[in-house]
Amino acid sequence: MQMIDIQPHRLGIPVLPETSATPRTHLPPATWHPDSWRARPIAQQPDWPDPHHVQRVAEEIALQPPLVLPDEIGTLQQSLAAAAEGNAFLLQAGDCAERFTSCTEHGVRSKLRVILQLAILLTYGSGLPVVKVGRIAGQFAKPRSKPTEVIDGVELPAYRGDIVNGPEPTEEARRPDVDRLMRAYHHSSATLNVLRALTKEGFADLEQVHAWNTEFVRRSPAGQHYEQVADNITWALRFMQACGMNGKESLRQVHFYTSHEALLPQYEQALTRYDKKTGAWFDTSAHMVWIGDRTRQLDGAHVEFLSGIANPIGLKVGPTTTPGGLRDLVERLDPDHVPGRLVLISRMGADQVTDLLPPLLRAVRSTGRSVVWACDPMHGNTFVSQSGYKTRRLSDITREIVGFFAAHKQEGVHPGGIHLELTGDNVTECLGGAEEILDTHLCTRYETACDPRLNASQSIELAFRVAELLRE
Ligand code: PEP
Ligand code: MN
Repeated sequence: MQMIDIQPHRLGIPVLPETSATPRTHLPPATWHPDSWRARPIAQQPDWPDPHHVQRVAEEIALQPPLVLPDEIGTLQQSLAAAAEGNAFLLQAGDCAERFTSCTEHGVRSKLRVILQLAILLTYGSGLPVVKVGRIAGQFAKPRSKPTEVIDGVELPAYRGDIVNGPEPTEEARRPDVDRLMRAYHHSSATLNVLRALTKEGFADLEQVHAWNTEFVRRSPAGQHYEQVADNITWALRFMQACGMNGKESLRQVHFYTSHEALLPQYEQALTRYDKKTGAWFDTSAHMVWIGDRTRQLDGAHVEFLSGIANPIGLKVGPTTTPGGLRDLVERLDPDHVPGRLVLISRMGADQVTDLLPPLLRAVRSTGRSVVWACDPMHGNTFVSQSGYKTRRLSDITREIVGFFAAHKQEGVHPGGIHLELTGDNVTECLGGAEEILDTHLCTRYETACDPRLNASQSIELAFRVAELLRE
């Protein structure tokens, strides 16, 4: 008979260290105000037809209720502070680009389901509480490497995410449409509403651990492996019930947070509110927002805006980042060394991570900060396959995570988390995995509006590997 481990942290209960006190709050620099980004150069903005119209819509959004509240943001910050210390692990995951059309109960449920599956595998395998953050309920704006693209011989403006234009290959669809800013707010709000209902009632209950495994995943090797873990958890729960340890709220609910790239400062500013209690400014569009690899200029508008808000801030750290440049950025974004404030998201590519990451780990450590280092193994490993699809290999994704863990071990720094593009659906967008998705299969279900995502079985397979790395 298998031993049943009933320690709370093995059952997905986010146990924070007892020392964690009320989080310190980041206050803006004296020169900052919600408009100060406007005086800075800004990259990756849509060509809006009428800037006054953008301002009018932003003013309307500013009259809407906040999507998330400062206290929730503070709780996330506290959990991230634990991850920075090696006492928790961040799982940030979801679509590359959310679509308005996937804002349905089924769409949200299926994304939440796979993230819960991954989180339980990481928790069970590593013994660490997992901080769950979706790229969801607002991940609508996309930076692009080129402003236009050629489709069937016709040059069209690039798709910049549903908050700006549509992905259909016509001039009409690709024209930036200001009213989409308000639609993005409402779709975020509807998505959050479903998320809140599912995470508070029933669906996230650990008793449902088997039900999270959908039929198509159960048929895959990763899905069967998952079933074994789910069996163990179910037995442990029964054991706890038999001992009278039932009714624990933490077994039935999860904390689930939202995040997106803060690419459009007008939109983020419209949802930024002053908190009298702390004197801080919170961007209430999501619990956490991040700065992309293309918009992290030290003197640019994005860094300026995010330097003033009190949410946890993600910063993508790509291959062109220098140790000195990174030191300047962390000083700018976190001058007061606030625990849980910064998540540095390394996205180097599997071939480069072991060379490029160690000097950056050292540079940040030399500032005396404890930050969450997370691995985005997706964005440095994208290529166009022979059949013409933008894709990624699961083997490269795994290799980058292995390199990321090795670099941390070498430098004596905690690996704090992973950042994935995935979906709960049975798509064929990334190559490899036990089900061997080949280039010739990519056309069967290639559904992403932007970058290729891991499907549910590939994601679960990867989670088993990450859990192993966390145990080593
Ligand atoms: C993304 O996360 O979808 C993205 C565009 O990443 P990056 O800024 O790292 O390229
Ligand atoms: Mn992407």
